[in-house]
Amino acid sequence: RTSICLFTRDLRVHDNPVLQHAARADRVIPLFVLDEAVLRGPFTRPNRTAFLLDCLRDLRTSLGELGGGLVVRTGTPATEVAGLADEVGATEVHVAADVSAYAQAREDSLREALRTRECALHVHDAVVTAHPPGDLVPGGKDHFAVFTPYFRRWAAAPMRRVAAMPEALRMPRLRTGKLPAREELCPGELSPELPTGGESAGRQLARQWFADGIAEYESGHDDLAGDATSRLSPYLHFGCVSPVELVDRAGNSEPERAFVRQLAWRDFHHQVLAARPASSHRDYRPRGDRWREDPEAFRAWCDGRTGVPLVDAGMRQLAAEGWMHNRARMITACFLAKTLHLDWRLGAQHFLDLLVDGDIANNNMNWQWMAGTGTDTRPNRVLNPVRQAERYDPTGEYIRRYVPELRSLPAKALHDPRRIDPADLDRLGYPAPIVDVDAANAQFRADRGQP
Ligand code: FAD
Repeated sequence: RTSICLFTRDLRVHDNPVLQHAARADRVIPLFVLDEAVLRGPFTRPNRTAFLLDCLRDLRTSLGELGGGLVVRTGTPATEVAGLADEVGATEVHVAADVSAYAQAREDSLREALRTRECALHVHDAVVTAHPPGDLVPGGKDHFAVFTPYFRRWAAAPMRRVAAMPEALRMPRLRTGKLPAREELCPGELSPELPTGGESAGRQLARQWFADGIAEYESGHDDLAGDATSRLSPYLHFGCVSPVELVDRAGNSEPERAFVRQLAWRDFHHQVLAARPASSHRDYRPRGDRWREDPEAFRAWCDGRTGVPLVDAGMRQLAAEGWMHNRARMITACFLAKTLHLDWRLGAQHFLDLLVDGDIANNNMNWQWMAGTGTDTRPNRVLNPVRQAERYDPTGEYIRRYVPELRSLPAKALHDPRRIDPADLDRLGYPAPIVDVDAANAQFRADRGQP
């Protein structure tokens, strides 16, 4: 028997059921296809492409240590897999189940291409997520729309065992193909402070996190300047670390439980998207919003020049690091959708342009949550950036870090730009607020029929 292990968003050798099962054949070919349709689409951006290439280099090394290698081809996954299956006489193909409309279509086309070839397609669950989407459903429905009951079921359901790593891989002689340079795949500027991708870096970060980061998680995860979260999101997005292994590794302390709950949020959004793939771009619950068109305001938001320091700090963190603190993502997203009343899709795409962890399920479903078109059970609540700054950046340290021109100002002024003398703003080269936040938020509530 010869198998093909098609890597997608599971770029790891530890706890990978796809690789584990594929390696049971007499010979296995680990394969990654640089998908031309994805490369041409709006999802391929410099930051994620650089991280992906790190992941592939690292995976190639790890597979090499097991006696294998990583074949890299460019094209359409179904065509490349079918071609390789013919070339080596493969009888089985293994791949991870995934949730986006694109991933589901890829699975269909793989099945179609292999149907006439006496080559079986094995799709493995609980690789990308901890629990397979669709396994946990409320009576008579195809997904949970509310997190709390979902989490109750999620926490009680048995999780699959951590998969053993194959001891050795037997791979036929094949040209593995060179990895292209990042600029060839996706030219453009990188964020200056990107993390290094790959399973080795992800496992190292996870080890450190469990050894000494997680203790402060429950109390500190909302503290913007404290930066007390795991930063594992890009490694989870590309599958360099396994969500099942993280849950398995976490103990029962309060901070560990709080961390596991966040991993369940990840699964929650994935099961919503799996059941409603169109909600990547269509309102999950349309509420009749008529989004404003205001390209100048949108540009100011993207550039971190809205004149609202906390919003600008978040947007500049995104540009610098390809990552943003969760609390800042909530505040900047709410500001775009509810205060500026611009279409959430614009903001979601800008996030996807830069986020290394940019993920259709987590990004677009969180955006819908913040815009009040998604699964939030209180869709009309609006975050006030002044109060958020007072609460989550009390000393102003986060704002000072990312908006250095305001460094000399006291926290009170950083929290509330109305306290900054317009003459000072001019001198510091920082814009006046582009919107009256209180009036705009009141208008949003009024439009939604709220007092
Ligand atoms: P930690 O706090 O250490 O959490 C551990 C893991 O739990 C994260 O790595 C992530 O996989 C998961 N997680 C945590 N919070 C959430 C959440 N609210 N929803 C889903 N999963 C969560 N996350 C992404 O991975 N990709 C995205 O593209 C993305 N876009 C977002 C857009 C908006 C508007 C908002 C409000 C949130 C978004 N998130 C996204 C969720 C969250 O902000 C990030 O997962 C988190 O900030 C990553 O940092 P961390 O790994 O240090 O998180």
